[in-house]
Amino acid sequence: MTELERHSYDVVVIGAGGAGLRAAIEAREQGKKTAIICKSLFGKAHTVMAEGGCAAAMGNANSNDNWQVHYRDTMRGGKFLNNWRMAELHAQEAPDRVWELETYGALFDRTPDGRISQRNFGGHTYPRLAHVGDRTGLELIRTLQQKIVSLQQEDFEATGDYEANLKVYAECTITELLKDGDAISGAFGYWRESGRFILFEAPAVVLATGGVGKSFKVTSNSWEYTGDGHALAMRAGATLINMEFIQFHPTGMVWPPSVKGILVTESVRGDGGVLKNSEGKRFMFEYVPDVFRAQYAETEDEADRWYKDPDNNRRPPELLPRDEVARAINSEVKAGRGTPHGGVFLDVSSRLPAEEITRRLPSMHHQFKELADVDITAEPMEVGPTCHYVMGGVEVDPDTASSVVPGLFAAGEVAGGMHGSNRLGGNSLSDLLVFGRRAGMGAAMYVDGLGAARPKIDEADVDAAAADALAPFELEGGENPYTIHQELQQSMNDLVGIIRKEEEMEQALGRLSEFRSRIAKMTVEGHRQFNPGWHLALDLRNMLTVSECVAGAALMRQESRGGHTRDDFPGMNPEWRKKLLVCALDADGVVNVTEKEQIPMREDLLELFELDELKKYLTEEELPAT
Ligand code: FAD
Repeated sequence: MTELERHSYDVVVIGAGGAGLRAAIEAREQGKKTAIICKSLFGKAHTVMAEGGCAAAMGNANSNDNWQVHYRDTMRGGKFLNNWRMAELHAQEAPDRVWELETYGALFDRTPDGRISQRNFGGHTYPRLAHVGDRTGLELIRTLQQKIVSLQQEDFEATGDYEANLKVYAECTITELLKDGDAISGAFGYWRESGRFILFEAPAVVLATGGVGKSFKVTSNSWEYTGDGHALAMRAGATLINMEFIQFHPTGMVWPPSVKGILVTESVRGDGGVLKNSEGKRFMFEYVPDVFRAQYAETEDEADRWYKDPDNNRRPPELLPRDEVARAINSEVKAGRGTPHGGVFLDVSSRLPAEEITRRLPSMHHQFKELADVDITAEPMEVGPTCHYVMGGVEVDPDTASSVVPGLFAAGEVAGGMHGSNRLGGNSLSDLLVFGRRAGMGAAMYVDGLGAARPKIDEADVDAAAADALAPFELEGGENPYTIHQELQQSMNDLVGIIRKEEEMEQALGRLSEFRSRIAKMTVEGHRQFNPGWHLALDLRNMLTVSECVAGAALMRQESRGGHTRDDFPGMNPEWRKKLLVCALDADGVVNVTEKEQIPMREDLLELFELDELKKYLTEEELPAT
């Protein structure tokens, strides 16, 4: 029997970003003994890196805003492929979740009359992002952690033990979920520092592990984003949807090479920054697609007037949804109108006074000064697309966040559906809060429903999980995981990137299948104490599974929509909008991609749109009767 440390909980939350912390708070408040597990340090999650803000239709900056407008914007941003029920819940509940954060101790920037200030972002009709300068994620995580500490203090009062009902296991990586029959029974992992194994017995697991960016070479994501939750869910029998949709954020740093891909927040454009090519032209006016033409300015004068008078002017095209801007930048660079380092110019220096820039964008000012020796108050930045966010993820029930596996829940970036084919900026932080809470509630309700009949751990599965984890130590003379990782990232970047072609994706799938054989023969040196090579070897299995889903689904979807652009199928096709591509593992562990029909949008939600707009997205049969 494997030697390991054992713990027993009602709910285990894997991930300590915004989604995981909000889920854990909810599960604990519902009276469940809850563990929070994270492979990074507590507080070091992607959520902490979020800069621009959290989208919620509070109507503080423009009283015309409301959940219906937010819903419409989200559906348009996702090109109507979103799970409409998730988009509805998100738009309705986001304002309450932001208010709630203030009751936990958050302090957002204020309007002159003391309300929560809201800023403009791409695809949002009104200023909607509640923010704290450009460090919003830091405030979100700080506040959620503070709430956790306050709950632990309550538990101490009641039991004499701070961690009686809510405990954090940091720098602890989960490598496998365990099941009793069809239902979840726990999670198996290891402490990163000692390499020792750890087992959590729990009937409910909430996945909140974030995204998959580390499968791509140029990315804004950091080392934890290896698609663990996506792959854990699949190995446990759950399904993923929308995996072909990857968001390439239009503005990542392009220079120097060591920082290529690091994010340049959309707030720069929201606060007035403009994109120019090497000829000094504001090129975005050339790239407004027909579906958005009515809402975007046609001249620089009108675009500039919008910042002061948004009710009587149309928005600047720099604030189109991210997929449109990323493709436009890609085209300008390809046409030879790029900057010396292969990007385009993002200029805020000629648009705002220096002190305004350092006040509104302190992190960006610091980032460019420190990393590129560029003073953004005096000169433009060079920027280009970077892999930023995965719209695809675990297929969940919108109301409870449950997957198809009993006892398995998912929230945040690891869950799919909410953002359709493209996420609007700011809609992730609100997604984490809305669906993190719902996942915590869903998990608690599930546990209540079980009564005394809890799923049991099968010791043979624990031994198998331990053997799998140790496999890379067993083989001598095999390949180094770092080499395979670099080649995987390069292949995904080159062959399944912003613009996709059938033959390139077929080539990618061929390479991925070679990586699968090479991964089976990988060797890691040394022992189990803090061994990054071993950690990467374990993460690589997950990155490979996720990459197979992305490439497989991208090859199958024969249209261009949101974060999926096919060179050979350039337009949107209403027939494809009705279809979801579902990824699952077959009995041999091979990724299978199948088609599934979307559930048609509810009548009252359809009525929120003009018929002419619906005609751009829906098939004839789907249109409401007039
Ligand atoms: P995360 O916050 O990434 O948390 C994932 C957690 O899972 C971590 O604790 C990690 O350690 C843990 N984990 C992963 N795998 C395992 C495992 N195997 N075992 C144990 N633990 C594991 N969105 C917005 O809405 N507004 C913004 O302004 C914004 N700015 C952004 C800026 C940057 C630079 C980036 C990268 C993203 C930004 N986003 C923004 C997107 C947003 O931050 C993320 O989508 C969101 O924070 C994801 O939150 P999460 O809770 O799902 O995951």
